[in-house]
Amino acid sequence: MVTTGSIAEIQALITQFKSEGKKIGFVPTMGALHEGHLSLVSAAREKADIVVCSIYVNPTQFNNQDDLKKYPRNIDTDKSLLGKNGCDILFLPSDEVMYAGRNTISFDFGDLNKLMEGRYRPGHFSGVGLIVSKLFNIVLPNYAFFGQKDLQQLTIIKKLVEELFFNLDVITVPIKREPHGLAMSSRNERLNQKEREEANIFYNALIEAKSILTKGESVSEANEKVKALFEDHKAQLEYFEIVSDHDLLPKTKNYLEPDTVLCIAGFIGDVRLIDNMYLYGN
Ligand code: AMP
Repeated sequence: MVTTGSIAEIQALITQFKSEGKKIGFVPTMGALHEGHLSLVSAAREKADIVVCSIYVNPTQFNNQDDLKKYPRNIDTDKSLLGKNGCDILFLPSDEVMYAGRNTISFDFGDLNKLMEGRYRPGHFSGVGLIVSKLFNIVLPNYAFFGQKDLQQLTIIKKLVEELFFNLDVITVPIKREPHGLAMSSRNERLNQKEREEANIFYNALIEAKSILTKGESVSEANEKVKALFEDHKAQLEYFEIVSDHDLLPKTKNYLEPDTVLCIAGFIGDVRLIDNMYLYGN
């Protein structure tokens, strides 16, 4: 695996591979890698000839400076995991390379900005749009791999690709979970054993709500059930929404449709977790 923090160097490598007719698969991450990230790498390995991963904790997508400071960073372990799991090129840029004091552009994704994550993390998706655009322009991948775990991010990135004519396919990879259902996340590293158990409530709430809805009961019954689960629990519920996966607008009457996805977010202590589940799938 080649590791570089230089735009010129990674572009020279990619130009060479593309001139040989090789297809580039790209997996952007913020590091502190777990099996969820590695499932993106193996999906890229299967589809592309050359797998490029990036690790960059992007400051412009953090609306909370404390969250940025506490974000887990395990670069040595990450490098070794990527080396063993089929990554060919690791792009590891510095803040200087990615921003160099430039931070003037912002993105507005309309309603997609304002719902769910957008409501609780102002500016977050502008930062995501900015960094993903920069990375796409540097790596020029044929395929870019993103996890369903960050469903709203995925919807926004699909919009970005469509509206800005990025010449690449976005590939969605299913959520990897811990044995009891907790969605894998770099932030789980900040939970102790007891908190990890408590964090299962997010998965359990999704399962309960899904079961209520598939029995034909109403959206408000599902909402009530989820609220009740969080009463007297250590975890704090921020939102639970039943939405359509393409516009993220709440489902009311016609919720029994294949695009229906249940989304949840909340806190265990000061660690913020998100999860989601399709009504008829994972
Ligand atoms: P992050 O490092 O958190 O920015 O995540 C990098 C990529 O990995 C994003 O596309 C995430 O959606 C994806 N990802 C994170 N956690 C998981 C998971 N548990 N299962 C599948 N993909 C994930």
